[in-house]
Amino acid sequence: MGENDYNPYATAQAQFDHVADLIDLDPPIRELLRQPSREFHFTIPVKMDDGTTKIFNGYRIQHNDARGPAKGGIRFHPQETIDTIRALSLWMTWKCAVVDIPLGGAKGGVICDPHNLSLAEQERLCRGYARQMAKNIGPFDDVPAPDVMTNGQHMLWMMDEYEAIHGGHYPGTITGKPVGMGGSLGRTEATGYGVIYTLREALKALNIDIANTTASLQGFGNVAEYAARLYTQMGGKIIAISCWDNNDKKAYTYRNVNGFDIDQMVSIKDSFGTIDKQKAASMGIELLDGNDWLSQDVDILLPCALENQLTPESFKKISNKVKVICEGANGPTTPDCDELIKARNIYLIPDFLCNAGGVTCSYFEQVQCNMNYFWSREEVLEKLDYKMTAAFKAVHKLSQEKKLYMRDAAYVIAINRVAEAVKLRGWV
Ligand code: GLU
Repeated sequence: MGENDYNPYATAQAQFDHVADLIDLDPPIRELLRQPSREFHFTIPVKMDDGTTKIFNGYRIQHNDARGPAKGGIRFHPQETIDTIRALSLWMTWKCAVVDIPLGGAKGGVICDPHNLSLAEQERLCRGYARQMAKNIGPFDDVPAPDVMTNGQHMLWMMDEYEAIHGGHYPGTITGKPVGMGGSLGRTEATGYGVIYTLREALKALNIDIANTTASLQGFGNVAEYAARLYTQMGGKIIAISCWDNNDKKAYTYRNVNGFDIDQMVSIKDSFGTIDKQKAASMGIELLDGNDWLSQDVDILLPCALENQLTPESFKKISNKVKVICEGANGPTTPDCDELIKARNIYLIPDFLCNAGGVTCSYFEQVQCNMNYFWSREEVLEKLDYKMTAAFKAVHKLSQEKKLYMRDAAYVIAINRVAEAVKLRGWV
């Protein structure tokens, strides 16, 4: 099966069902937690710069809020689907639970390609989204954040619209805001840094010195960029980066066997994480097929783009040298590929643990907004490292003790926490 034949919602439910069986979860809790509790599907009319009006389709899906307000990003993507957002809403619940922050899970999306929208059109789209959701998001209900192809500016337009509607200042409505406008220092780098904090701990557990490792990366958006930066600072070498090319509508792998200078690569990418192929060629960077990031002789694979990238088909390309797969993306691995990863004994750092740094820092952003007192970047990153390391260690320990696959161990901890909250509230 190819990457497009997998439904992420089916994947998320299969992962959940597998662990629900393992822990013998009560049937009503299982039924409650294997699907979202609320879904919003809406249209967003946007006046375009040329005077026409275009109708976009938007979604917000709240999976569970037993542990606190629902929380999760909003993506802009031309191939966005309702089932992808459903899956992502489930994964947000497990993500907040595994790092033990008092938030639930939600996700949103708009089917659109922001590359083709002017800034003014993007602003009107964000304001339209906020108007449609103004009654059902907010600091005590559901708190959005950036995700694929959205950023702090998009969040601020949404917050401004929300505040205009509700008449007051509610900085806790949305996180990932720009610094100085209620945003937290460290939030931009938080997801990518969190990925590398978990990788650092995994390598320690495996007795591997990070400075002797090489890695291949898929994606070059926010998560990938900051993961690459911290990994390189710790002495690792990124030798391949696979990235979408929006002109050719296909991905390419850029390779530098001596290890990339990440600043140089960032200087030739756009704000949506797309690398300029011509500029890369003029720098003498090798250009390979989009899938070739998988077949490099590296120690670590860092899928930091979208869902369904590691399938039995693509797994055939993976080098025998790979020791760790570090899932910066949400849902990059299909359940049938998990079986192959297990069989080859590759150490997996599962997505909702690995990339939980973003939402953890979003939680810190809410805390700082509530106090109206903002911490230094060092303080934020220190707290982030502490949270991520503690969560990693708990999952690793359980996986060792009970001989569980890392994804299953993370699920056991997360599901038990949410099930406990549901029981304590008396919902079942
Ligand atoms: N979009 C990020 C994620 O998938 C962050 C969500 C948030 O900060 O709420 O985890």
